[in-house]
Amino acid sequence: MPSNFDIKTHLPELQKLRHRLHAAAEVSGEEQKTAEIITDFLSATSPDELQKNIGGHGLLATYDSEEPGPHVLIRCELDGLPISDKIEADYESETDGVGHKCGHDGHMAVVAGVAKLLGKQQSRAGKVTLLFQPAEETGEGAARVIQDSQFQNLSPDYYFALHNLPGFPKHQVVVRNDTFAAASVGLIIRFEGATAHAAHPEEGNSPALAVAQTIQSFSAVPQFQVPLEKSAKVTVIHAALGERAFGTSPGNGTVMATLRTYEDELLAKLKDHCIQIAEGYADTFDLGIDVEWVEEFPATVNNAEAVKIIEAATDKAGSEIYHKKEPFSWSEDFGHFTKKYKGAMFGLGAGKNHPALHAQTYDFPDEIIATGISMFMQIINETIDRS
Ligand SMILES: [Zn+2]
Ligand SMILES: [Zn+2]
Repeated sequence: MPSNFDIKTHLPELQKLRHRLHAAAEVSGEEQKTAEIITDFLSATSPDELQKNIGGHGLLATYDSEEPGPHVLIRCELDGLPISDKIEADYESETDGVGHKCGHDGHMAVVAGVAKLLGKQQSRAGKVTLLFQPAEETGEGAARVIQDSQFQNLSPDYYFALHNLPGFPKHQVVVRNDTFAAASVGLIIRFEGATAHAAHPEEGNSPALAVAQTIQSFSAVPQFQVPLEKSAKVTVIHAALGERAFGTSPGNGTVMATLRTYEDELLAKLKDHCIQIAEGYADTFDLGIDVEWVEEFPATVNNAEAVKIIEAATDKAGSEIYHKKEPFSWSEDFGHFTKKYKGAMFGLGAGKNHPALHAQTYDFPDEIIATGISMFMQIINETIDRS
């Protein structure tokens, strides 16, 4: 593998691919068209193995140098978001209310670029597997991929991924030892009472007070349950009570909240506190209760050796490096991989004043595709040098 990869030649094709993926944006778990586009692209790079339907619409492409050496996995994501695409470009999303608002189209273009280079010329040693993962945004995809038997047969030595970062200078590489991104989980509490005529609420059992007090108590959990040196948030994101019927005293109520911490253990404690609170109110007001946990993301905890590899690669790629002091407060389901395997995620600056991730006006900046590719190629090189 040449030390100076010929990325430039492939950039127009990769940008075109990114725009095609952007226009075809699909939500988590429904990435069929996206997987087709990627399959066509990868097939043309002649991987040694191309595996489909991994944990849903996921794809695995393996490039084997047939020389002994490390096995590196590089992961990107297939899914868009249920958010309208409001960008001024001729590749705007073709589906109303669905857009690539997290830049996963760009991440795919980067990893497709790696495929292009590996297809042309294998790495010097070892193997590289490229994972196009489904359903990242709902926190389901990584876990499903890990459970997939096709994936379980691989057992790579290292796992790497990047995420583009608006708010950071373009091309800057953002690294962090230990926790990179927060753990989070969604909680749905359903209270079940009994409806009555609004003229006679005393004849039914309204969950109104349970809903109101649960919202209040949830919001106070971090204040009373979390030590000063740790961070935690319980954000009530939705609540509902009965129907829009002025003649009816409500019989059911729902409270939804997102719990967020930098550590899986603290998240587990927070979960217990929230359940105790909700069950307490169900008891007090004599209501039925149903508890559901959704979209669970473990913390993305970077492995120290993998971070060293990223640091060395940044140096060789000639990129600027930034060591972030605090972890990111958003969550990434790449945490499922770092929980089980040796791996790390790094950030790639998308521009200081770039629209934020998940904003309707957000669009992945094409200029950083080349930086992403050269980072991954140098990471592969570095793992070989160290083996
Ligand atoms: Zn996202
Ligand atoms: Zn994302």
